[in-house]
Amino acid sequence: MNFSNEVIELVKKCEQKAKAQFERVEEIALYNQNKVLTAFQNNRVATRHFSNTTGYGYDDIGRDTLSKLFAEIFNAEDAIVSPNIVSGTHALTLMLFGVLRPNDNFMYISGTPYDTLREVIYGDNIGSLKDFGVNFEAVELVNGEFDKPTIKEKMTAKKMKMVVIQRSRGYEWRDALSIEKIADIIKFVKSIDKDVIVALDNCYGEFVETLEPTAVGADLLAGSMIKNIGGGLAPTGGYIVGNKDLIEQVGYRLTAPSIGNEVGSYNSSYQPFYQGLFLAPTVTSNAIKTSILFGYVFNELGYKTSPSLDSNCYDIIRSIQFNTADELIKFIQTVQFASPIDSYVTPMPWEMPGYQDDVIMAAGTFVSGASIELSADSPIREPYIAYLQGGLTYEHGKLAVLMCASEILKQRK
Ligand SMILES: *Cc1c(COP(=O)(O)O)cnc(C)c1O
Repeated sequence: MNFSNEVIELVKKCEQKAKAQFERVEEIALYNQNKVLTAFQNNRVATRHFSNTTGYGYDDIGRDTLSKLFAEIFNAEDAIVSPNIVSGTHALTLMLFGVLRPNDNFMYISGTPYDTLREVIYGDNIGSLKDFGVNFEAVELVNGEFDKPTIKEKMTAKKMKMVVIQRSRGYEWRDALSIEKIADIIKFVKSIDKDVIVALDNCYGEFVETLEPTAVGADLLAGSMIKNIGGGLAPTGGYIVGNKDLIEQVGYRLTAPSIGNEVGSYNSSYQPFYQGLFLAPTVTSNAIKTSILFGYVFNELGYKTSPSLDSNCYDIIRSIQFNTADELIKFIQTVQFASPIDSYVTPMPWEMPGYQDDVIMAAGTFVSGASIELSADSPIREPYIAYLQGGLTYEHGKLAVLMCASEILKQRK
């Protein structure tokens, strides 16, 4: 390999330090693999479930069985899994619009929502929730913790139909929320109002721990199929999981209030969705191990990274703080050069739909834009933080960190 001894030794040393954390991650993957395997067996998955359908898609067993698998894996009553959902933002939009009604109040309790959800919630004259008279508030986290006194105050002052938790960090310098913290806050909000619906933005959280939020009291959650749970094979799609009555409402929004979740065809094989789900626990563990390795290596190189090296990972993202926009851009470009697809392309910042600042993105991926594959992105704004995620194989993650560290050491000489 074309790496200097210096960089090879650096990465080797970091791998040693990460050993105990890697073992924990592998244990979680084993647990989740068993959960997934058992769901396949309980639902008697067979080759016929991969078959394509056309037209209305009545009795599409591929779609229906996939939904049953998700419900079981998430310890939930019901699920919608659909290739007709275009992205995570779309799935979350369906979740919110499916349940919220004019004059309802709802509240994010994990701070400002993810960039693409902001227009969905309070954009002007674009069919946002606000345009339909749904009232929104956000309670910021305080030092990464839920602000219980403020949450209680707001819930006591006004009837809240729903509270929403964003599990992963988004483009913020904060840790993802652990299932332990999520379980605790769900208990807390339900003790104030037992009828409040607790919903989650579950993006980047699937299979990071042994339990999903619906196993600890969440009523509803949504995410993307081209992140963790698609296992790198799902070609598109989104999912929503939760209580039966809520999923029914979301189904009416997905299609039409008269037909709900009983229709929807897909004229291509469902196999990648099933096989991707089967691989997802391992793929997610590879992504987390990649994140941990990047954390140690960039720490050694003198950069601040998050999550901190003595805490567990609760999403698959590694945030790395750079000193200048140039350094940040160079890093993202190196991740692109380390990719299997479009490795010869130099990404540049651009105005991406749904984002407030220019965004630069390394996505040399088989599935376009799939961020369970090794990828990195960043809005160009201070402080210059790169968000790295994914890695279908740990070996690819390791090669990428070798390349990124080589590049930085070269610049310093
Ligand atoms: C990725 C992500 C989304 C939106 O997903 P897209 O598929 O890009 O639309 C929403 N919330 C969080 C926290 C995410 O990481």
